[in-house]
Amino acid sequence: MLSSAKTNSPSPINIVQTGDPVLRELAQPVAISDISSERFKKTIADMKLALDSQDDGVAIAAPQIGVPLRIFVVSAKALREINDAYAKKYAGSPDYLIFINPTITKLSRTRTDLDEGCLSVRWLYGKVSRSNKATLQAYDEKGEKIERGASGLLAQIFQHETDHLDGILFTDKATQLEEIKPEEKEQVK
Ligand code: ZN
Repeated sequence: MLSSAKTNSPSPINIVQTGDPVLRELAQPVAISDISSERFKKTIADMKLALDSQDDGVAIAAPQIGVPLRIFVVSAKALREINDAYAKKYAGSPDYLIFINPTITKLSRTRTDLDEGCLSVRWLYGKVSRSNKATLQAYDEKGEKIERGASGLLAQIFQHETDHLDGILFTDKATQLEEIKPEEKEQVK
């Protein structure tokens, strides 16, 4: 998912764009015994590289680099922008948050239409109705089971990224879709 920054450099890792079938697949669960494997670590490293190559990227799901597994990564940079208690706890953290086999277990009934964009749907933006709060169960990169509650941007990220793992793009749900080219983008909130 995206924040509202302006520029991007070419990614060393290809970020799959809409139209590629991998974005429409139901991503497969990671075998927990694979979490310590080199191949799995490479996938996580590639996801971080792809995310870091995009100034406006705040989170990325594995299918977005062509890997149909149930993983998403939230950037530390995003956490610093997020104003809620959970994010504050992590705000000084140099690393990323990694969620493996995430499942949303709770969504608040209160929803808000939020601005949204996607690293895989350049350069469309729109409004998506998201729950204000979300709770997620997952495994972390050590293979430990975790549960996280979030509000605001992090709750939005939880919903956007778990949608990716089910083959859903934000454009399936968005209203007021419009194309905003990078050079026009700083005029937009
Ligand atoms: Zn996305």
